[in-house]
Amino acid sequence: MTERTVLHGIGVSAGTACGPVAVVTPAVGIDNHEPASVNPEADGQRIREVLGEVASSLRERAAHANSKASQEVLEATAALATDRGLIRGVDKELKKGSGPTKAVHDAVETYANKLRKLGGYMAERVTDLYDIRDRATARLRGLPEPGVPDLTAPSILVAHDLAPAETATLDPAMVLGIVTEAGGATSHTAILAAQLGIPAAVQVKGISDAIVDDPRIALDGSTGQIIVAPSDEDVAELDERSRRRAAALEGSAGAGATRDGHAVKLLANIGTAEDAVKAAGYDLEGSGLFRSEFLFLDRDSAPSVDEQTETYTKVLEAFGERRVVVRTLDAGADKPLSFADLGEEENPALGRRGLRLSQAREDLLADQLEALANAQRNVPDAELWVMAPMVATVEEAEWFAERARAAGLKQVGIMVETPAAAIRAGQVLDVVDFGSIGTNDLSQYTMAADRMQGELAELLSPWQPAVLSMIRETCRGGEATGKPIGVCGEAGGDPLMALVLVGLGVKSLSMAPGKVNAVRAALRLHDMDTCRKMADAALAARTAEDAREAVLGIADSVILDLL
Ligand code: PEP
Ligand code: MG
Repeated sequence: MTERTVLHGIGVSAGTACGPVAVVTPAVGIDNHEPASVNPEADGQRIREVLGEVASSLRERAAHANSKASQEVLEATAALATDRGLIRGVDKELKKGSGPTKAVHDAVETYANKLRKLGGYMAERVTDLYDIRDRATARLRGLPEPGVPDLTAPSILVAHDLAPAETATLDPAMVLGIVTEAGGATSHTAILAAQLGIPAAVQVKGISDAIVDDPRIALDGSTGQIIVAPSDEDVAELDERSRRRAAALEGSAGAGATRDGHAVKLLANIGTAEDAVKAAGYDLEGSGLFRSEFLFLDRDSAPSVDEQTETYTKVLEAFGERRVVVRTLDAGADKPLSFADLGEEENPALGRRGLRLSQAREDLLADQLEALANAQRNVPDAELWVMAPMVATVEEAEWFAERARAAGLKQVGIMVETPAAAIRAGQVLDVVDFGSIGTNDLSQYTMAADRMQGELAELLSPWQPAVLSMIRETCRGGEATGKPIGVCGEAGGDPLMALVLVGLGVKSLSMAPGKVNAVRAALRLHDMDTCRKMADAALAARTAEDAREAVLGIADSVILDLL
């Protein structure tokens, strides 16, 4: 029997969960020890059977899919698994002498290249083809199929890491929680988990070794604590924590404001039109960050103006008259685009990403701005704001503002996520209408610590006094120019940090929709003067830990139930 073990990671999506474990299996590659095919006919037959099994298992999953869209994707992938062209390719490779797993890999690659050349819808099927390859390879090697297993009961997913694409398709009704051994607190996987409202912890070292006998595990997505094989007392304590949290959240509703009535707009971070529809159903005041790049990722060509217009129109319609801040394409670094590849870069996070990519591919930005202007015309009552990512200089801000205004967009802003923009906020904000602080990147660039690197979590904390100083400078720039400053990085969704941000002068906070209730409740507990005192105390602290402790010392003790 598994022994009770307590592990610690980083909590990235609040909430508690307790349940059985479902392990996410990583993909395996070619079997490097497999002999060459001596009987291509028999090997071909075996591969046909395996591909048939892959197709049936995909069809089975399609039958239980939670949306029509995922059902269609799964059915189309199943049909591709038994495609005659693919099987003919496999036979050809076997005849050349390849072993079965190599034959599958090479045949898939040839087929994928053909689809890429065809472009459009066909090119988009390449991802499905690779999925088939990985499933068939695992079966041929007698190993479990990779990816998220079919869940027959609500479970806690345990993975080394999860790709954003895998996280995006999870069914929150079946996934009680997510625990990963790797991954960073501001990685896009962590962001998506919070978006789906699934409690999650990353950087939980030793979790894979601790779950050998399929034990139950208990997860606290706030503290990042995991208990493998929890005792009855552990479960009772977790229940008590979730009860206290529910009590602290009671009555959290309506527009965001401090106890003495200073308005703080509470907004949602979204990535797709479906997110917009879901988020709009929450009690919140709009969207402070639509990460529009999710429309562009995983594709072989850019979405057309018409397709983009349709998506942005849906997003604006979902929010009615509420504000929607769309960020233009922020690709590059951890979000590469195959159709806008500017070549190998030594340091992609410091390379031609964000607005720099838009400057290299003006056509992409022009299409996007045109589509946004179309959407505004389609939904005239919508309050559409548009902002550029990764701005570092006044010239860049001007370059963007000119184009956005020429396209007919009214509210044009920039993200403040480089130290350069933060310490020169007074000048940079002067040429636009608003600023939105991206604390994820601002922390990464201020502290020179890669946000993808979980081990550097301490350096990446927004509580770092250097990061707080950057935020203060941005707010000072906002005050001097009369331009409103919001926060749309993960820091805005931390109820304690939210108080500090408001004390520094931030006017709106955008976060995963599931975090809004806790932040609203924290604001209602404190007046503006207290928030300012918290900001001063955090800025005066020597270390990140001291800063957080100092703020906790000032805060109402109920806040502990909200964290
Ligand atoms: C940020 O950097 O804080 C931000 C909101 O943008 P992203 O996380 O998408 O880089
Ligand atoms: Mg960013």
